[in-house]
Amino acid sequence: MNRFEQLTDLLDNKKYFKLVCGAGNEDANQVEKLVFVYTLAGAKGFDLSANPKIVSKAVEAISKAVDYALKLDRKILTPPFITVSIGMKGDPHVRKAYMNENCVKCSACIFVCPTDAITEKLEIIEQKCIGCGACDTICSFNGISFYHKNKNLKSLLTKCKQAGAENIELHAAVPDKSTIEQEWQMVNQVITDNYVSMCLDRLHLSNFEVAERIKNAEKIAGSRLIIQADGVPMSGGKDDYNTTLQAVAMADIVNKSKLGVKILLSGGTNSQTVKLANMCAVGFHGVAIGTFARNIVKNQISVTNFWDDDGAIVSAVNEAFLLVTESIGEIKW
Ligand code: SF4
Ligand code: SF4
Repeated sequence: MNRFEQLTDLLDNKKYFKLVCGAGNEDANQVEKLVFVYTLAGAKGFDLSANPKIVSKAVEAISKAVDYALKLDRKILTPPFITVSIGMKGDPHVRKAYMNENCVKCSACIFVCPTDAITEKLEIIEQKCIGCGACDTICSFNGISFYHKNKNLKSLLTKCKQAGAENIELHAAVPDKSTIEQEWQMVNQVITDNYVSMCLDRLHLSNFEVAERIKNAEKIAGSRLIIQADGVPMSGGKDDYNTTLQAVAMADIVNKSKLGVKILLSGGTNSQTVKLANMCAVGFHGVAIGTFARNIVKNQISVTNFWDDDGAIVSAVNEAFLLVTESIGEIKW
């Protein structure tokens, strides 16, 4: 099977688990550890920032995991697929936070940042900021603003592909649709022989607009289209049904549009997501988990000598393995 057929097989059998490292996460050391741990845990895909250095780190981490797997009596039969994510101005996945002149330096935001991007000196480390908005929500003084990094996307994506990315995801839930088709065309020019994904949520779009956007995306991508059905972007901190309700609801809406596309559950996903989708008889082809999946291994990957600490590695892999198998069932090694 070629790589497109391998991914099709995973999707058709609901065996595709994608770890979302964060479209704005450019912390190469953290990404390397996450990719290593989740490859060993059976993840089949990674969603990364569109940055060739980050893609190269992930490729290295997969290779390290393939070697380390022998110690765990595992064989990585299908190396995971690397997706890079891009988005337009207005999309929370690709924005970066900064403190504006309203900030009174109360420090409240430090404690809610899921990626430890805000230092004690109240500086925001750009590489770590994933644009989630938790700092903005907690701030009572309107002290947080956001900016969007402008990039020459075609050249950047081509470099990402050369570095090892096989799929691209476009975050296309912003209200302005004039540039979406243009960017989607470009995504489809860079990736011609594998899946391309469009991430949609209902923050700005009605159910009707979601269906229209999918129809237009399918005209260009055909059977290579994945719709990442985003419930509430970057909201998956807790492990309960309510947190994941909107992720399942969004997949239901995509299903009811009867467009027959591949669907990934995302945006508020956790260990309950697949269970809830099955209880509600909502069809899907895979699951993408970000915040929750990163949090459950956060302590282990933060130890000082992680790469030499087999105890920390095995503990992280075991935690991640539970989540992966709860989501996609048994894994063949
Ligand atoms: S919570 Fe708001 S006011 Fe307080 S430090 Fe953060 S940005 Fe500044
Ligand atoms: S809370 Fe979210 S948006 Fe704010 S600095 Fe941290 S990662 Fe960035």
